[in-house]
Amino acid sequence: MQTQLADFIKDTPQGREAESILRKCVHCGFCTATCPTYQLLGDELDGPRGRIYLMKQILEGATPTEKTRLHLDRCLTCRSCETTCPSGVHYSRLLDIGREVVEQRVPRRGADKATRWALRTLIPQAGLFGLATRAGRMVKPLLPAALKNKLPDAPPAGVWPPPRHARRMLVLDGCAQPALAPAINAATARVLDALGISLTTAAKAGCCGAVRFHLNDQQGGRADARRNIDAWWPAVAAGEVEAIVMTASGCGVQVKDYGHLLQDDPDYAEKAARIAALTKDVTEVVAAEEPRLLELLGAMAARAPRPVAFHPPCTLQHGLKIRGVAERLLTAAGFALTPVRDSHLCCGSAGTYSLLQPEIAERLRDNKLDALAAGGATCIASANIGCITHLQAGTATPVRHWIELLDERLTRRA
Ligand code: SF4
Ligand code: SF4
Repeated sequence: MQTQLADFIKDTPQGREAESILRKCVHCGFCTATCPTYQLLGDELDGPRGRIYLMKQILEGATPTEKTRLHLDRCLTCRSCETTCPSGVHYSRLLDIGREVVEQRVPRRGADKATRWALRTLIPQAGLFGLATRAGRMVKPLLPAALKNKLPDAPPAGVWPPPRHARRMLVLDGCAQPALAPAINAATARVLDALGISLTTAAKAGCCGAVRFHLNDQQGGRADARRNIDAWWPAVAAGEVEAIVMTASGCGVQVKDYGHLLQDDPDYAEKAARIAALTKDVTEVVAAEEPRLLELLGAMAARAPRPVAFHPPCTLQHGLKIRGVAERLLTAAGFALTPVRDSHLCCGSAGTYSLLQPEIAERLRDNKLDALAAGGATCIASANIGCITHLQAGTATPVRHWIELLDERLTRRA
């Protein structure tokens, strides 16, 4: 695609990156067919090719409007278009740049501004979010249905094995997950302990930065990244840990991107690249220990397979490009994975999207739950707290992190 960027951006790092992305796009439109918002809304401007055109026009000097911003807001950042694109267009990076420019030119007002401020302020602070979640649970019967559904009861986390192995890894606690589903990281610690790895946390690490970054507080997102790097660095520099484990694929995408996000920061660029290289989704960690896992499972009595439908989060399949791994591990553990149509499509959670674009998010969730139920599963498994909470709000079928199912099987509870 020929481009002629406007003076305000052409000689900046963002301008150069945007130009190289735009030049790769050949307008073929293949991506449009796999875009969830285009499928629902049927408007070219609510699909990737249309959004790329809009961003190109703005970066070339056109004046954005509230309508431009709405088409960009409606994008889930699911990156299904990137998986489909034959030309390797890095759409999500272009969107980050486009959204930042539009946000500055078309400032938000009223309730939209206040809601985004509240989300940026509340969610990334784990302590505050935990307090709000506990308070919300106490008055749950009085809450409106939309909010009530977002507050699932949290089963107890169970025992976190004390560190006893020479092999060590760190795990990110994150922001919303400890309050919404504390059992996920504890289950991960138990599974890794059984595989000969001790899992620990760094007290000062917190939100990965994705919440603020994707609510157009990109500097705030970078500040979260720097805080986490500072928290993890002593153990990393001392060579005490093999990896930094992510149990939410959304956080994994963000932390693996720290090297890129901080590449122009002379104090953090090198550390950020090292942290990014050490970061692994829990699927990658367990898959690397598969022979030992199969040994443990092989020593256990066979059980009747339990039908499970797996929903691969967009951040796992399109962001991290990890496909089929959790499914393979669950199958090895004796679960019967049911077929799920259109598994490449987003469930509508998409970070804070389900709160900001509830109508589209609910339509996507209902379609996804229909697809997940079609094979007769008695449980839904996924790999990201946002998807798990969003899906659970629309179904009575339990929705769990896949590592919890593996933990239950290893500890003979499933
Ligand atoms: S990221 Fe997802 S919603 Fe956004 S344009 Fe691409 S496919 Fe469509
Ligand atoms: S598939 Fe790729 S090259 Fe084709 S229109 Fe979409 S982004 Fe552009």
